[in-house]
Amino acid sequence: MDRKKLDDLRAKYAVAPPGDMHDPKFKKVVEMVFAGTDRRPKPYEGVATFLGAPLRLDAPATQNWAGLDVALVGVPMDLGVTNRPGARLGPRAVRAIERIGPYHHVHGIAPFTEVKAADVGDVPFRSRFSLSDSHEDIEAFYKRIAAAGVTPISVGGDHSITLPILKALGATRPLGLVHIDAHGDTSGPFEGAKFHHGGPFRQAVLAGVLDPERTIQIGIRGGAEYLWEFSYASGMTVIHADEVSKLGIERIIQRIAEVVGKGPAYVSFDIDSLDPAFAPGTGTPEIGGLSTREALALLRGCAGLQVVGGDIVEVAPQYDATTNTAQAAAQVMFEILSLAALTRTRAKPAG
Ligand code: MN
Ligand code: MN
Repeated sequence: MDRKKLDDLRAKYAVAPPGDMHDPKFKKVVEMVFAGTDRRPKPYEGVATFLGAPLRLDAPATQNWAGLDVALVGVPMDLGVTNRPGARLGPRAVRAIERIGPYHHVHGIAPFTEVKAADVGDVPFRSRFSLSDSHEDIEAFYKRIAAAGVTPISVGGDHSITLPILKALGATRPLGLVHIDAHGDTSGPFEGAKFHHGGPFRQAVLAGVLDPERTIQIGIRGGAEYLWEFSYASGMTVIHADEVSKLGIERIIQRIAEVVGKGPAYVSFDIDSLDPAFAPGTGTPEIGGLSTREALALLRGCAGLQVVGGDIVEVAPQYDATTNTAQAAAQVMFEILSLAALTRTRAKPAG
């Protein structure tokens, strides 16, 4: 390095005040985080919320959801599981994760500077004993979110919660779907139940709220393939986990864009899509899954889509000794929030 360059760096940075950034993108984040002081919030202090977002428990009681663009919602309900329970504890585990964001270096945005987003608490449930009552409660809650034009991003709960959410968000037109999961979740009724976590996407198509031809399922694997004939019969695009390295992430991202198109789309991320090496804290683990790096690349590849909502489901913290599963879930939530922010800022009229 020549002397002049060193002198220039010293002039610019040696006596800089705390948080003094020159890049306008970084400056915007600094202004939010430091808020005119030389301090930034400690990651371990205060009341835990999703992604450290402001807590707005008052928002659901208002008609316009306190003017929010994005509502972060907990859905602590796991009455639909076919195997190990525990995902009702998912929202609390994800809220406990700190140091996610605020800046997304791939998209070049800090989503909390782009949209007004807050943790609005949990869906209120009438009964801890009734799956069908719980699904009704979820649908009613999300109908009010949809009516206010707010984008919901949710943490389950088991995957059965996605059906009532799709019924609310897809009521006026069927949605496209990016579904990342070890399981197809298009199986039928058994033991007298069809609203379990193994079949929300079959029921959503049959209810007319999900367009199977605009649905792509990624990461599918395991011995229950025989249950997911409906995926093929309805025209969904299925990419198995064992096809991921053969196709490559870039090709799969192209397929996502081709299949889902420009219409409104939902992103549903089952944490068991990740290999249990990355995410052991879940009720129906399947080996041979995605790495966290692959999953993040896929989600980042959704940047051109019109994302109207999303969820992260099946986080069961009692099998998550390291908290890695909840760490992954919180990062996925930040990815979906970033997609929602990109969608909403794109949709805003110029000026
Ligand atoms: Mn699932
Ligand atoms: Mn699954």
